Amino acid sequence: MSDDIQNKPLIAVVGSLNMDLVVKTDIIPEEGETVSGEELHYLAGGKGANQAVAAARMGGQTTMIGAVGSDGFGERLLHSLTESGADASQVRILDDTVTGTASIWLSKGDNRIIVIPGANGQVLPAMLEEADTVKSLTAAAAVLLQLEIPLPAVTRAAQLAAEGSALVVLNPAPAVPGLPQELLRCVDVVTPNRSELAVLTGRDELRPEDVDAAVAELAASLGAAVVTTLGPEGAVYAAAPGGRVQAGRAGACRAPGYAVSAVDTTGAGDCFNGALAVALARGETLDAAVGFAMGAAALSVTKLGAQSGMPFASEVQAFLA
Ligand code: ATP
Repeated sequence: MSDDIQNKPLIAVVGSLNMDLVVKTDIIPEEGETVSGEELHYLAGGKGANQAVAAARMGGQTTMIGAVGSDGFGERLLHSLTESGADASQVRILDDTVTGTASIWLSKGDNRIIVIPGANGQVLPAMLEEADTVKSLTAAAAVLLQLEIPLPAVTRAAQLAAEGSALVVLNPAPAVPGLPQELLRCVDVVTPNRSELAVLTGRDELRPEDVDAAVAELAASLGAAVVTTLGPEGAVYAAAPGGRVQAGRAGACRAPGYAVSAVDTTGAGDCFNGALAVALARGETLDAAVGFAMGAAALSVTKLGAQSGMPFASEVQAFLA
């Protein structure tokens, strides 16, 4: 077990960094109205940064690639990465834009969110061609991607990763219909949740009883492994014959979730992805990697905050022992 912790595979994460401004209020203001709210929280977020924190805490030697503005929010996001042991030196600090923010109004179970992409919207392919970034992508054991930065940059990152020997793990969130073939052909593992799986398989909606068939269908059509997370119910996964990532048996496999007392499920999917990438980069089978990722994600929902609630590898190993 401790040998696993010593084995620190190189992981590169290309994606978003956001400051989440969480406003708790009893009353949502009408047009022209001003109200007093109850609480304001500044929480480090963005799928890219969340997954980088998870990968670093899971024992991956992790580099985050992305962009923030030259403002206080950017500084706090960089600090959150380095505090978890991730390398933030390839997060570009841009002068002409703001750090990405998500303004989240929470009121009586309802939430309204306005995202300002800011610097995330300026992560373009040219930024990935810089020598240090090309090196990180081509030398990595796994490259982890999501869809919160412009699609051409996601595609270029996948291509550079595929030029090396990295496993390319794509978390297709938020859902984008019609992903380009240039991206999909570079991908080794895709990790949609149920609604993203529906979009990827061209369905308006996906009934729970159809998930296994859709996972197997997508794996076969991409020639890649597919892992669909189902919240507390766990995950369904399938590997394609001939793909780089293989499972113990053919067809869709179900891994039931761990029963825990959930406090905050924000970022559970990000924790799952970070842990999955590290386990696969260490050479574990898809079955073992999914089990490890589910243990990590289950622990993450028992704590508050996306990044602050991510567990460490030793905690996951103790939980699963
Ligand atoms: P998000 O976007 O909120 O991070 P997601 O839809 O990408 O979520 P989920 O399917 O909700 O991801 O969760 C990912 C994994 O986290 C699940 O496969 C499961 O292993 C774990 N998980 C989530 N919620 C719970 C829970 N209440 N109890 C136990 N495990 C959970």
